[in-house]
Amino acid sequence: MSRTNEQITAWIDAAVADGWEVTPIYGDHEGIATAAKLTRDGYVVNAFRRPPGFKGGAPRGEYNMSAWCPDRISLTLPDVYSFDGVVAATRVCSCCKKPDVPTQRVAFANRVCADCLAKERARLETPGWYN
Ligand SMILES: [Zn+2]
Repeated sequence: MSRTNEQITAWIDAAVADGWEVTPIYGDHEGIATAAKLTRDGYVVNAFRRPPGFKGGAPRGEYNMSAWCPDRISLTLPDVYSFDGVVAATRVCSCCKKPDVPTQRVAFANRVCADCLAKERARLETPGWYN
């Protein structure tokens, strides 16, 4: 999900203040200022804040966050940090955005509700989708 540098910085600062551990995603190769990995209770968030032209990157920079929960399915993070919001996101369908429903994996790590499962399987799990 695309966000601004300021939004991501505010999210990280709030998460760290709330007990998340922050480490570099790529070890010694890139610092947490541009590629930070946050972890807490099995949740993992990767946060990129790379300015325009960073290491030959995108002209407009790269500012995004991605997340997985303990069941290894991806998560759509709340715009403003709260741990309850992160946990609640495990019950949001990534397809129809319906909140507070049971969700399950489709394809590699997508999270969908029961109503969207058949449609998303047909769309994403085409022959060879796992290759
Ligand atoms: Zn759905």
